[in-house]
Amino acid sequence: MATQMHEKKKLHFIIVGGSLGGLAAGLALKAIGHDTTILERNPTPVLEEQGAGIVAGGDTLQFFKKYNRCDRPIAVTSHRRQYLDRDGNVVHKEDMEQNMTSWDLAYFLMRANYDGINSEHCKAPSPEATDGMAIHLHDHNVTEIKEDGQGVRVFWKTSRGEEGSIVGDIIIGADGPSSTVRKLLQPGVERAYAGYCALRGTIREDSISEATRETFSERFTFFHCRGVQILAYLIPGRNGSVDRGQRLINFVYYTNFPEGSPELEEIMTDKHGKRRLITMPPGMTDPNAWEKQRQVARERLPQPFAEIVCGTKTPFVQAVTDVISPTNEYLNGKVVLIGDSLAGFRPHTVASTSQAAFDAMIFADYIEGKVSKEKWKKETMGFARYIQKRGVDMGNRSQHEDLPLEEHIHDRNVASTPREKEVYPDWATAI
Ligand SMILES: Cc1cc2nc3c(=O)[nH]c(=O)nc-3n(C[C@H](O)[C@H](O)[C@H](O)COP(=O)(O)OP(=O)(O)OC[C@H]3O[C@@H](n4cnc5c(N)ncnc54)[C@H](O)[C@@H]3O)c2cc1C
Repeated sequence: MATQMHEKKKLHFIIVGGSLGGLAAGLALKAIGHDTTILERNPTPVLEEQGAGIVAGGDTLQFFKKYNRCDRPIAVTSHRRQYLDRDGNVVHKEDMEQNMTSWDLAYFLMRANYDGINSEHCKAPSPEATDGMAIHLHDHNVTEIKEDGQGVRVFWKTSRGEEGSIVGDIIIGADGPSSTVRKLLQPGVERAYAGYCALRGTIREDSISEATRETFSERFTFFHCRGVQILAYLIPGRNGSVDRGQRLINFVYYTNFPEGSPELEEIMTDKHGKRRLITMPPGMTDPNAWEKQRQVARERLPQPFAEIVCGTKTPFVQAVTDVISPTNEYLNGKVVLIGDSLAGFRPHTVASTSQAAFDAMIFADYIEGKVSKEKWKKETMGFARYIQKRGVDMGNRSQHEDLPLEEHIHDRNVASTPREKEVYPDWATAI
C-alpha cells in the first residue's frame, strides 16, 4: 500500500493547505527527494499575516534546525516565567528559557526554504541538488478526493470559478482545524466551541510606558482571575526584527463568552455586521464591541496588561474550539492528516506548531523507512490525543473553575514537559 513503500521510489505528495503544517510536510518530504505540490485555497500568493506570536517548542526548534538554511535569528528568548497579582506585583517567578517567534516569521522562513520565496524577512537559500520538486499553488480550494488507480485524485476550484484535478501517490491533509480532507473522510467529526474566546493583539515595545516595557521585557508573564487568563511575551517585530525597540509584545487574553450569549454575538460580529464563526481577523473588530472589552480590561486586569490590551491597534479574536480525528490515516494510507486537521489543540498547550512540525518530521522518517509504521502511528496519535485532552482540561480548569494560583502554575509547568519525556497512556496510543 502507498505508505508501506519504503523502497527508494520517488513519490508525489499532494499537500492540502499551505500554512505551517503543509509547509513543514513539504520541506521534510522534498528534503528526502520526493516531489510535493501544495494546494492552498487562499487567493493570494502568500498568506496574510496576523502578526501574532508562537511559543516555539522543542519540535518547532528542531524542525528549523534541521530544515532552515536562512541565516537569521528566528526567535526572541524569554528568560523567566512570572505571575502578577491584580495590583501588578510579581507573586511568583521561575527562571526558564523559552523561545518566542511570530507566525509570519515562521511562515516566511518556511516559504524561503520550501519554494524559494524572498521576503523582507529572509532571502531564500539556493536549492539542494537532491531536493524533490516543490510546487506551491495558491487559490486552489480542495473540494473532493477520490481513489485513482494506485494513487488519489484531488479536485480543486479557484476563486475565479476554474476547476481541475491532480493525482498524487499520497495526499496530506494539512488544512487546519476545519479540514475539508477530514470532513470528506470522517464526516462525523465536528469542531466544538469551548465557551470562551482568545482576544489577541500585539503592540510595539517602544510605544508603551517604560514601567510596562520593563514588566514584559524578555519575560513570559501571566495573570489569572475567575473566568480570565491573560499572558504576554515578546516576539520578533516588523520583518522579523529581533532588535530592541522593534520587537512586539504579544498578548493572549482568554475570557468567557457563553455559547448563544449576546456578548459572544457582539464580539464575533465584525464592523460591517457580518457574524464571524471562529476568527475575527485583525482590523475587522467592531470598534464599539472592542471599546467595551477595553473598559472590562481596565476593570479586571493589572495595569501593565490593561495598558497593552487597550493600546493595541488591530486586535483580533479567536473562538477557542476542540476537534480531534479518531485516526490520522485513511484509504489504506493514501491519505494522511497532520497538524491542526488531525487535532486542533487549545492554545494553552502551546503545542499546535510543534505538533505540525513533529507530524511532518516523523512522517518523513516513516516514508524513508527510518521508523516503523507502528511507531509513526503511535507517536503521532499519542501526541494528538494526549495533548488535545490536556488542552481541554487546562482550559476548563482555568476558565470555569476558581483555582488557587499554584494550580495554574502546576498546569502550565506540566504543559512544558518536553515531548520526549511525555508518557502517553494506553488510550492515547491505541491504534
Ligand atoms: C493565516 C494564518 C495565521 C495564523 N496565525 C497564527 C498566530 O499568529 N499564532 C498562532 O499561534 N497560530 C496562528 N495560526 C495557526 C497555526 O498556523 C496553527 O495552529 C499551527 O501552526 C498548525 O498549522 P496547520 O498548518 O496544521 O493549520 P492552519 O494554520 O490552520 O492552516 C491550514 C491551511 O489550510 C488551508 N486550507 C483550509 N482548507 C483548505 C482547502 N479546502 N483547500 C486548500 N487549502 C485549505 C488554510 O487556508 C490554511 O492556510 C495561523 C494560521 C493561519 C492560516
